[in-house]
Amino acid sequence: MCGIVGIVGQSAVNQTIYDALTVLQHRGQDAAGIVTVDQGSFRLRKANGLVKDVFETKHMQRLQGNAGIGHVRYPTAGSSSASEAQPFYVNSPFGISLAHNGNLINTKELLERLALKRRHINTTSDSEILLNLLADELQHVSGLSLTPDEVFSAIRQVHRQVNGAYATVAMIIGQGLVAFRDPYGIRPLVLGKNETEHGTEYMVASETVALDAVGFKVVRDVEPGEAIYVDLEGNLHSRQCSDEPKRIPCIFEFVYFARPDSTIDKASVYSSRINMGTKLAEKIKAEWEDQDIDVVIPIPETSCDIAVEISNHLGLPYRQGFVKNRYIGRTFIMPGQQERKKSVRRKLNAISAEFKGKNVLLVDDSIVRGTTSEQIIEMAREAGAKKVYFASAAPEIRFPNVYGIDMPSSSELIAYGRDVQEIAKMIGADGMIFQNLGDLVEAVKMENPDIQEFETSVFDGHYVTPGVDQTYLDHLTKLRSDDAKANRNNDLGTNLELHNVCHP
Ligand code: AMP
Repeated sequence: MCGIVGIVGQSAVNQTIYDALTVLQHRGQDAAGIVTVDQGSFRLRKANGLVKDVFETKHMQRLQGNAGIGHVRYPTAGSSSASEAQPFYVNSPFGISLAHNGNLINTKELLERLALKRRHINTTSDSEILLNLLADELQHVSGLSLTPDEVFSAIRQVHRQVNGAYATVAMIIGQGLVAFRDPYGIRPLVLGKNETEHGTEYMVASETVALDAVGFKVVRDVEPGEAIYVDLEGNLHSRQCSDEPKRIPCIFEFVYFARPDSTIDKASVYSSRINMGTKLAEKIKAEWEDQDIDVVIPIPETSCDIAVEISNHLGLPYRQGFVKNRYIGRTFIMPGQQERKKSVRRKLNAISAEFKGKNVLLVDDSIVRGTTSEQIIEMAREAGAKKVYFASAAPEIRFPNVYGIDMPSSSELIAYGRDVQEIAKMIGADGMIFQNLGDLVEAVKMENPDIQEFETSVFDGHYVTPGVDQTYLDHLTKLRSDDAKANRNNDLGTNLELHNVCHP
């Protein structure tokens, strides 16, 4: 997953973009970048690392200008090479810089098309493809400045060519900020504004929390298929640019990715998680009539809100039995399984008083490989637990994600080809329960009943965009195995073959 932001302000935007990226850091910790427009030139700083490490005072001083875009990256199938940090840049037409959250499916076909137009893609990133497609569509414009009609018709053409998930921000030199969301709105994108004495400032970002943090008011979600164009005078234009838009947002944003204090497509992430807790508690009551749980313990942090609700509904105490070391990155981003195994213990420690002689119900938001849950159950037993039950607020994850979330290939997913009992046995739980998919959907829908459909492919294997067939999934499997990732990372920046990069 990645985080994006774009602003057309009335004064310098460097600090605002930096602050927004800091609150979007949960969406990607691998690399960060900011581009600003200063007197007709781009100023760029991007590198691997956390926002606080990538930008030093000297960089911030150079990032002058009243408009800019920013990105935090979380690599999935792609390489972690610094050359793939975003935003990307092309010099023609105008000079365009672009950052993207999502994953394009039909990159092979798009690359061929771009090659015929003599456009060279120099990295393995699909964002560079998206940028070149946009640039190519804007190439047809005749005048020296862009009209909103010209911007929107270029984006319409981009939508017609691309399959996949893409929430995008682009800055065009001398013209303005362009932001667009794919026709299904799979990845989130929100519009905000700030009234100043000099005029209105506009901002788009992956999550509302980024707007809150920098004092902008949320205006609305960017609609699926819609494009926003803010010219450098600060005038806002918007238009639906998809022939067939349909709102199908990714449900995993609500389960795990987004911050609880964000709202996506008018649904509060926090309240959705509370509803997930209620639904799961109802299932526990129905399926485990004679349960003997003494205490409900979350696996920090995402599941804390869910676990509180489960404890309330079951009338059982809630205890934070695990302490998280705040200064360690997410375990999932480690390249190899061995490292991932070690890192769970470095990240979490059990408080024995909460486990000794008790039957505990551990709650997590989701189970992917099962590495975390297996080790956590082991830790709970070492801390003296009698029985360890495990509840997942998401259903069994059985299929890879192709829309920008780092999910391993099916064979590496613990729920692939296994039923609940088999999973419980593998992770060493005395009992195990998963949310039903219908209940998960309902939990979010309760917050916005107008969302008719969600992108739920990791649970049901149903991919909403064209182009996700077995050949594509096999291709993804090759790119995503731990070995493939390790090889790519050993070969930073030298491999010019294009992989279908998810670099949200
Ligand atoms: P595991 O089952 O060991 O692979 O890890 C599952 C844990 O990782 C869950 O507790 C989630 O909170 C978290 N998680 C789920 N999906 C992802 C992801 N795509 N990237 C990082 N962490 C994730």
